[in-house]
Amino acid sequence: MSNQSRLSAIIAVEAYLPPPISFDPGEEPGEIFGSNVFSLAAMQKRLPKNVYRSVLGTIEHSLPLDPDVADAVASAMKDWALEKGATHYAHVFYPLTGLTAEKHDSFLDPVGDGSAFASFSGKTLVQGEPDASSFPHGGLRNTFEARGYTGWDVMSPAYVLENPNGNTLCIPTVFISMTGEALDHKTPVLRSQQAMSAQAKRVLTLFGHEDPENVVAYCGPEQEYFLIDSHFFLARPDLINAGRTLFGARPPKGQEFDDHYFGAIPERVLAFMMDTERELFKLGIPAKTRHNEVAPGQFEVAPMFERANEASDHQQLTMTTFKAVAKKHGMECLFHEKPFDGVNGSGKHVNFSLGNSQLGSLLVPGDNPHDNAQFLVFCGAVIRAVDLYGGLLRASVASASNDHRLGANEAPPAIISIFLGDQLADVFDQIAKGGATHSKEKGTLRIGVDTLPNLTQDPGDRNRTSPFAFTGNRFEFRAPGSNQTVAGPMVVLNTIMAEALDHCATALETALAAGTDFNEAVQSLLTEIISNHGKVIFHGNGYSEQWPVEAEQRGLKNLRTTVDALPELITPEALELFATYEVFNDREMHSRYEVGLEQYVLSVTVEANLTLEIGSTTILPSAIRYQTELAANVAALRAAGVEADTGDLQTVSVPLAALRAGLKALGAAIAHEHDDDPLEAATFIRDTVLVAMADVRAAADTLEGVVADDLWALPTYQEMLYIL
Ligand code: ADP
Ligand code: MG
Repeated sequence: MSNQSRLSAIIAVEAYLPPPISFDPGEEPGEIFGSNVFSLAAMQKRLPKNVYRSVLGTIEHSLPLDPDVADAVASAMKDWALEKGATHYAHVFYPLTGLTAEKHDSFLDPVGDGSAFASFSGKTLVQGEPDASSFPHGGLRNTFEARGYTGWDVMSPAYVLENPNGNTLCIPTVFISMTGEALDHKTPVLRSQQAMSAQAKRVLTLFGHEDPENVVAYCGPEQEYFLIDSHFFLARPDLINAGRTLFGARPPKGQEFDDHYFGAIPERVLAFMMDTERELFKLGIPAKTRHNEVAPGQFEVAPMFERANEASDHQQLTMTTFKAVAKKHGMECLFHEKPFDGVNGSGKHVNFSLGNSQLGSLLVPGDNPHDNAQFLVFCGAVIRAVDLYGGLLRASVASASNDHRLGANEAPPAIISIFLGDQLADVFDQIAKGGATHSKEKGTLRIGVDTLPNLTQDPGDRNRTSPFAFTGNRFEFRAPGSNQTVAGPMVVLNTIMAEALDHCATALETALAAGTDFNEAVQSLLTEIISNHGKVIFHGNGYSEQWPVEAEQRGLKNLRTTVDALPELITPEALELFATYEVFNDREMHSRYEVGLEQYVLSVTVEANLTLEIGSTTILPSAIRYQTELAANVAALRAAGVEADTGDLQTVSVPLAALRAGLKALGAAIAHEHDDDPLEAATFIRDTVLVAMADVRAAADTLEGVVADDLWALPTYQEMLYIL
């Protein structure tokens, strides 16, 4: 790369022309929504009544899938897909890399006489067998036992993915080993869903709901992302290979004006957003909100919330779609949690609630007092869950890239606490103080839980520094990173809610059996929860310096890095929790722990190698050239008998020496032989390699401020962030 490529990138961005509109601008969104989805409506039209009813039973009521119907569904699905121009089908699954994997097969089977016919049986629909040996499994399988199976997840609809060269029928699946252990992110979502539902139903039954429907977790993920012009992207090997800039001085203008947030969306970006929304609509993904985010070049998309399982699939598909559509518009979509130092990173806020179609959301405060008590128990369960298992929530969002974001005064700290809002906090405060009196408007009165004041929908004020905030009808978990699957956090949320609801149901059942009045039982349950777990509630400023100190006094964990957080997955309490609710066995937990550490080591190692390479081959040469120019200048002046000021030469030579030393230290750190123990390897990476990388960067960023601009080869922050 030469500085020429940087300058020509700028010129090329100037000359950018939008792609021609490829659809009828008058098209109604309703016409295309779900048009590429084998939806319930499509099934109803194409399936025999009894088959449709059977599939519906599985989708709506989680009844086991009747194997006899698979052939009929497969045949209808195939016909539908062929009409949509599909030539191939793929079992899509979500391995522990956090990415989406798919194995494509042709519908065509050669017959032997030179012809072929389209085949797709129930067996092919229900089960696939990709070679599993190349996916991370953390010791769950030996390579020679490479069998892995994909299994159709009936609850997530199949869809057709378009490509200019032919369409593919995609079938969302689970991915398991030969021994039935989960190798993916979807299987545990489904298992945890089941566990949570069983316990939630026990609580609902106690509140008088006879035979309640299954309870599901809803998830509405808000996705933040950056867009940059692809010319700049292509001139940044760090962005291409690591997803983030490993070098780059802060621009003279950062985000301090707050002039980007909710600002007018640039025309080029708006064209991209409209195009992505159209693609998402076709896939039945209910994209709803779009706006500029805080940092320059940063934006957000949020879909309508859906069942966790579907939301998680849709979330993955959204990211894939965004990447592809951005390329079409000459841009690159960055999902890394911290692509640019010094400006805000990107998160994926997971809005979370529980409910079902029969009872609606169980986290809505409600109008009548009876519902209120029920709401308070569900809310109390959240408080218990987050207090007892905050470490697991932290571990569920642990990654090398998210470490750059959490606790960076733009994202919540790594300490997991709950923000309830004034109103709800007040109610729990009263419960904690004996729960008996409430004197807000009507004077002092003795109240049982069933006469607690009605809560209005208004969540009160918001607290952007809280990692887990009640926002009126849901909790918003703000720690997940923009590049992460929501499946991880949803599995933990479901499982810890299962435990907490189990605790609540058992306490109430026991009290009732002992003849306690129901309201009294609820009251003492809530009092117990708030006195044991109220310490997790925090309404102050999560960015302040006192908070970590106070949190420690309260006994809350502050797991700053991935290396601190991942061991939470294999504590005896965690292993017992996941085993009790049959979400993960010990081997599966250990495998996730190991894969997490392995991914951490791998991704930082790639970054370290890139830092070494770019530092040595791009930045060092620019600096040396400039140093040579300056030295020549000093020599020329002296030769002419003019007094030469060597100050400029010094300003380059000092950071240049630091860069050389830094590169040497980094090279040595990279060459370090890792221990077999993955935790030790990851600890070394964190404490030595990342530190060496930071030193190299500091020297390089100083050089960026002193080396002549025409010698600087890497596109700068102000170019990448402001030229679009
Ligand atoms: P914010 O004001 O927090 O930025 P957004 O409108 O960007 O809110 O996103 C809110 C997200 O929360 C959306 O995905 C929305 O569908 C989701 N959401 C709303 N209600 C619920 C609920 N009851 N359960 C889960 N998610 C919800
Ligand atoms: Mg938002």
